[in-house]
Amino acid sequence: MLVKYSEELIEEVRSRNDIVDVIAGYITLKKSGTSYKAKCPFHTEKTPSFSVSPDKQIFHCFGCGVGGNVITFIMKIENLNFVDALKLLADRVGMILPEKDQDIDKKKYRKRKIQYNIHIDAARYFYRNLKNSEVALRYLKERKITFETIVKFGLGYATNHWDGLYKYLLSKNYSKEDIAQSGLIIFKQNQSEKYYDRFRGRLIFPVFDLSNRVIAFGGRILDNQMQPKYLNSPETLIFSKGYHLYGLNHAKNNMKNRQIIIVEGYMDVISLYQYGIQNVVASLGTALTKEQARLLSRYAEEVLIAYDGDEAGQKATLRALDILFSAGCKAKVIRIPNQMDPDEYIRKYKQEGFIYLINQALSFIEYKVMLARSKYSIDTIEGKINFTKEVAQILKNIKSEIEIDAYIKKISRETGIDEAAIKSEVYHNKKSKIETSKNIIGNNRNTIQYKKDKSFVKNSVEKKSAIILAEENLIYMISQDFRLFQIFKQNMKWEDFTDDFHRKIAKIIFEKMENKEYVIPAELLDIFKTEEAGEKIASIFSKELNKEFMEKDIMEYINTIQVYTLQNKIDQLNQNLKKMSKKENPEAINKVYIEIVKLKKKLEELKGN
Ligand SMILES: [Zn+2]
Repeated sequence: MLVKYSEELIEEVRSRNDIVDVIAGYITLKKSGTSYKAKCPFHTEKTPSFSVSPDKQIFHCFGCGVGGNVITFIMKIENLNFVDALKLLADRVGMILPEKDQDIDKKKYRKRKIQYNIHIDAARYFYRNLKNSEVALRYLKERKITFETIVKFGLGYATNHWDGLYKYLLSKNYSKEDIAQSGLIIFKQNQSEKYYDRFRGRLIFPVFDLSNRVIAFGGRILDNQMQPKYLNSPETLIFSKGYHLYGLNHAKNNMKNRQIIIVEGYMDVISLYQYGIQNVVASLGTALTKEQARLLSRYAEEVLIAYDGDEAGQKATLRALDILFSAGCKAKVIRIPNQMDPDEYIRKYKQEGFIYLINQALSFIEYKVMLARSKYSIDTIEGKINFTKEVAQILKNIKSEIEIDAYIKKISRETGIDEAAIKSEVYHNKKSKIETSKNIIGNNRNTIQYKKDKSFVKNSVEKKSAIILAEENLIYMISQDFRLFQIFKQNMKWEDFTDDFHRKIAKIIFEKMENKEYVIPAELLDIFKTEEAGEKIASIFSKELNKEFMEKDIMEYINTIQVYTLQNKIDQLNQNLKKMSKKENPEAINKVYIEIVKLKKKLEELKGN
């Protein structure tokens, strides 16, 4: 028996399925003015005459005359009857259609409708409060949030009153039962009935669904003494946790390169949006869920994770990467330097700064390698061995030998660890893999080095890379002789050292030498208190370099660092260039290209030295 659904329910299903979004799942739509054009899927044609209007939520073909709304489209393209098409669309947005008794769904629909109304009234109430709240406006002003942005995101403020919203909603003639169901008021039914507003003394962020209806709220404290920092609406008739993404209602209209950026906080979304990065969403106080990942995959081909740089953020990033991959999404990680969050970063470095970070986004593998690198101190032998082992574990999961090889080369270049050593670890205990790939690497002279004993790794990582050696020697030289220091200063700055630890030492040496003071290694040991630093300093300053040759050698070492740095810069620009060519921005591409040519010329000059 065919179930009859109420008009309200049908309308609900239709309005929650954006027609552009649904049709884009079947055919490629191209934006053309206010509508989208495509080749008609219902008749054969060479030039597109099939049109979809997001404003009117209808489609129409000027060629064969077919047309209708999103339900009609699904019926035609999937060859389904009305009820089955409706079920498919309901399923698509996580709605469950009742099997029978349309009275129940009618009642439920009315209940939901009331909740939407309560939420829009509450949003208006919070917004009015904000306009009258000095403290909330000051908070937003300090964060450089403009009035335009406040309106765009419908920001509001919940005062410290216990029952301000409750009284307001009562004055709007909502029943106590409906108000309680909104989750915005908390009822305590003990001896006497008690009630209070869930959100008090908080900046309010309304959460919108894809049809731009308010379905929930998030609240952030203004006074850092209060707890918790963030508070969100509970599950209600109109809000299921883990099914929505904050900001997606805006982001879906501002897609760039089919990418969406996911951040942790409301303020991150709002700030990025205001500074022109508008394809951004937040996962609403929960860790990213499967449903949210699926939602993202509908709009984006690639998701860029830009969580905070702290440890919790790293864990959340790894989890999100897994979830996105299992949802079939490509994902990358945007790293925000100095433990900043996206909000802080974009306020400081603006849109250009953030676009730079987007272009530097790391793949899953690159991100894991980066984490491993920060875990171990690769300046020590032990650190190098452990790092190499962990990297090998990561690389083992890659199927393509060519890809593995590319990563090994890159890691070797960046860390100074011998390529063969990493290879040996990757293929270690993986005999079968080596055998099956013999035709690829069998002729390679390096094959002979794939020994399985661990001492091999140790030996090769012990050989310091030329760059590390050059830096150590330079540190030694400039701390010994004012003349050498002057030569160095004419060619380089202390910031030019590529190794973090070397840079720290060099900075101290610079300060001392500028004051005409010699550096006493023991003093350095006092400054860097760890055992590891002590060992390194000791090893650098125990060098016995021949004074006669130092003046000649210093230029060679400086040259080594300059060549290395320049090569890195060129590699980076080349990578950027690859990413840019997709965007078809000839002017920007040309600029980078000219820069590369310039740097390459400089590199040739340096190498000629
Ligand atoms: Zn047609």
